[in-house]
Formats: sequence, C-alpha cells, structure tokens
Amino acid sequence: MPGRLRDTISAMACSCGSQRLALFLLLPALAVCAAFVQWEQLEEIERRDMLAHWVVNPAAFVGADDESAASSATTVQGGTGEATNMQSTKISKRGFDVMPLSRAQVSTLAAGLTDEQRRVTQASGTERPFCGNLLDNHKDGAYVCVVCGLPLFSSSEKFTSGTGWPSFFQKFDPDHVAEVRDDTHGMVRTEINCARCDAHLGHVFEDGPAPTGLRFCVNSASLEFKDEGTDLQAGIKGPHGKGSAPPTLETAYFAGGCFWGVEHSFSLAPGVVEATSGYMNGTTRDPTYKDVCSHTSGHAEAVRVRFDPAKITYKQLLDGFFELHDPTQLDRQGPDVGDQYRSAIFTVNDEQAKAVADSVAALKSAGRYRKPIVTVIEPAAEFFPAEDYHQDYVQKNGRACHLGNPWWLRKSAAGTH
Ligand SMILES: [Zn+2]
Repeated sequence: MPGRLRDTISAMACSCGSQRLALFLLLPALAVCAAFVQWEQLEEIERRDMLAHWVVNPAAFVGADDESAASSATTVQGGTGEATNMQSTKISKRGFDVMPLSRAQVSTLAAGLTDEQRRVTQASGTERPFCGNLLDNHKDGAYVCVVCGLPLFSSSEKFTSGTGWPSFFQKFDPDHVAEVRDDTHGMVRTEINCARCDAHLGHVFEDGPAPTGLRFCVNSASLEFKDEGTDLQAGIKGPHGKGSAPPTLETAYFAGGCFWGVEHSFSLAPGVVEATSGYMNGTTRDPTYKDVCSHTSGHAEAVRVRFDPAKITYKQLLDGFFELHDPTQLDRQGPDVGDQYRSAIFTVNDEQAKAVADSVAALKSAGRYRKPIVTVIEPAAEFFPAEDYHQDYVQKNGRACHLGNPWWLRKSAAGTH
C-alpha cells in the first residue's frame, strides 16, 4: 500500500468506529484493503475460538476466595459478568476507599462533631455567608470531609468567588463527591455530598472559572483542612480507615493498538485502581493525538495501569494483555495501521522486565502463535496522558475494538509469579 494512502487509512481507522465505517462507505476503491482487513479479522475469530476452549478459573486471582469466585464465574459464563463483583471495597481513582458507610457507622462518626457541623452535614444545613473558618484559608493542602476524613477538594482548585463560602472549581477526585438533584426552597439545584459518608457539603453551580466552568460552593463546617504533606490515607475514619494499611499501588504500562479498548479491558480487571490512556516512548514532549497519528512523534498509544499487587499480580496483567490483543502484528492492530499501534510493554523495573521475558518465553515454548511475537519491550519513558475525550472512551460511547474482558479467561495452569 502506498505510504500516503496507508497514513490516511491509519489516521482515520484510529477512531475505531464511525470514521472507519465512513471510510469504507465513501472510498469504495479501498475494496482490496477491506479484503485484507477481513483476513485479519478471521485471525481474531480463530483466536476467539481458541479462547472458548479455555476454562474459567477466577480463583487464580490473588485473594479470590472460592465462594465469591464460583458465583462470579457463573455470571461471567453468562457473558455479562463484571470483574469488580468480587471486590469488597470500592477504590477511587486516587486510591481511596469510597465504599459507602452504613447509617450506624456515620452516626458513630457524627457523634464527635460540633452542633454546627452536625446541623450542616447531617441535616443539609447552610452556614451563614462570610462566617466559615475556611473561607479565607490560602494555605496549600487538602480539604477533607469533617465526618469521615475523605479528601474532597484541593487548595490548588480553590478560588475566591465572592459568595461568602469556600469555592472550588474541581473535585479532589470525581469518585469522592456525589451529586444529587435538590428541589428544595422552590428551585432546582445540584446538591453535593461526601460519596463515602453522605455528609452534606453544599451545592455545585455552572458559573465557575475555567477549565471546568463549575463552582463547588461548600460549607466550611463540612470541611477540615489538612496541610500539604499530611498523610491523607491515615486520616480516613471508620471501616477500612484509621489503622488499616492503605493499598500500596504499582504501575504498569501496555500498548496494544487503539488505547480505547486496551484501557477499557484493563479497567475491568480486579485490583486495577486506574487505567489511563496516553502516549509514551516517543521523541517529543506533551504530544497531541494529532502529533501521534501523524507519525511524527514516535509515541505509542499506551495505557497506564495502577494496580494493587495484593489483588492482581503483574504476571496476571501480562496474561490479560496477551489475550486482549494480537502480539504478532507489527506496527498495527487489525485495521489500525501505524507505529503508534505497536504492541509494546514498557517496564518500570528489572522485576517487570524479567516477568515480561518469562511470559514471552512461555508463550513461544507453548506454540501459542503461528507467527513470531513482535511485542516491543522497553524501559518506560515519560507517560503523557491523552486528551480528556480519550479517557473512558468505551465506557462513554459503548464501543469496543478489542476482545473484551480477558480477566476471567485463564488457562487452568495460570498461576502467580
Ligand atoms: Zn465523608
């Protein structure tokens, strides 16, 4: 295929869906290429067939007890299972336990509040404007829930709104602050609450500054300020909080074609706290999607995976990675063509590099693939998160371009490292 034509195809195919469809409808001259694509898809069908012969063995996961594994496996065999079913806690993107507390647990914590704090947080009260103790606080640090200690807002996102209440344009973590419709007082507003203990915080309005345009208007009485450098995990109160060790997360990087599908597949894995689409191991800094698709920056579409090694091992992530894409395709993945779609694993230490080498050697000796594995294995350089519209793309748009959820498809011999 001529280079320019191939570049055009790859730039359009990159969008994994409607643009690819439009390409084939609008350019019938590409029928020859389409036939080639079909051939590639046959390979995937073959691989699905292979996968169908594998057994479901979720107990291979670290920490999966027999009972929960069996029940989850049944669901997965029905085709609708979510790996997160087995998690007894809910971990936010920034690694905090945001499993909702029971009413009894909240009552116990609220017993230590002042009358004003209890009136605001437990009875949706509002403090008088310009009276809160945190309105004029300009120190660096975090604002945590006065009831349960969950970080809610950061000083770097605080601004002076002139309203008389502490104002922020962004949440500390989207999973930490819940929003509910509020019809009281003859108007429709959006109430904000602590996602863990349901403490009333205030309201959010759409008249804030850039980049969000939002104004989270919060009562000082709902917040407690923690200076920069404070161990916020240690300040969490209630179950899974004070006294329990926070998970120590590790990081892994994978590239296996269009990052939308790779990110989605990793986000389904039990023990994965965060999967982020981005660009890495290229030659420039802060690349854009346009840069990467034009093949001028040398970056791969990659996914940063932050995981709890007590729940899933790096070896298990590798197993899933090889199942969700075809590591024998050089600089492409199905119809997505170009070096940004290369199969690659970017390692962060010698232990990971050895685990990758062992996995590849095991796949080769097992004769898993007819063609050679071409996965690039390199030390990880800087990771640049992709533009916001690429994050959680499959979840937001309901389209996937990889083999789906590989985390329950394991050979019976699959183990841990
Ligand atoms: Zn709370």
